Amino acid sequence: MEGREQAEEEETRITKPTWTERFTYWRPDAKFLGMGMNGGWRHPLPVYEFTCPKHGLMRDIPRGYEEALVCPECCREVDDGLNDRHEKVLRVA
Ligand SMILES: [Zn+2]
Repeated sequence: MEGREQAEEEETRITKPTWTERFTYWRPDAKFLGMGMNGGWRHPLPVYEFTCPKHGLMRDIPRGYEEALVCPECCREVDDGLNDRHEKVLRVA
């Protein structure tokens, strides 16, 4: 879907977190920056800052049922790459 991809390229606006949000969204593996809103999202989502071993400091929202934080650049490489690249990324993780 072209429209959805364009929306995800928009810059995410992050609001300064309240104490309640800091408490609610705290996690040990990443720094909670605040609730973010993006043209491509229906609701504000918690945005985290974390370090990717390959790409350095990254920002993203938790994905999937396990709320995993995955480097967006690594995801893009998996999406764009061939199967052998995909396997390499999975082995690193
Ligand atoms: Zn990465």
